[in-house]
Amino acid sequence: MSEKTIFEKIVAGEIPSYKIYEDDDVFAFLDISPNQYGHTLVISKKPFKNILDLSPEITCKLFQAVQKIAVAIKKAVQADGINILMNNESSAGQIVFHAHVHIVPRYENDGGYHGKHLTYPEGKADEIAEKIKANL
Ligand code: AMP
Repeated sequence: MSEKTIFEKIVAGEIPSYKIYEDDDVFAFLDISPNQYGHTLVISKKPFKNILDLSPEITCKLFQAVQKIAVAIKKAVQADGINILMNNESSAGQIVFHAHVHIVPRYENDGGYHGKHLTYPEGKADEIAEKIKANL
């Protein structure tokens, strides 16, 4: 059997995460190295590699959750806009080979998101995760 992906370990609770949402097929948590505070990853629980091998049913469930969570994030962090992004294969910037969708809050004149990575000060990730959950 192949080794678990880091995201399977997060779903299993073997690696800690700031959980935002969970159902039978989908799990969402804060990206540890966000482009903006509130940047969230929505993943399939099953370790599909990316959009190229996702099943149609899980694709629907994944993107239904993405839509719902995007609305909650926009409210929670008072963003002006939201980018939805999925990297598929290393040539497209995929680093973790377990299907995931990025939800990135955006602000007017924020300078773009490419290559931008913030770190959460103590307590901030918890605070933001709670705000997002309260808006779901
Ligand atoms: P990519 O595969 O390039 O679409 O992006 C993988 C994303 O996973 C990056 O934005 C990382 O910051 C994020 N990431 C990697 N490890 C963790 C972790 N343990 N917890 C939260 N986010 C993570």
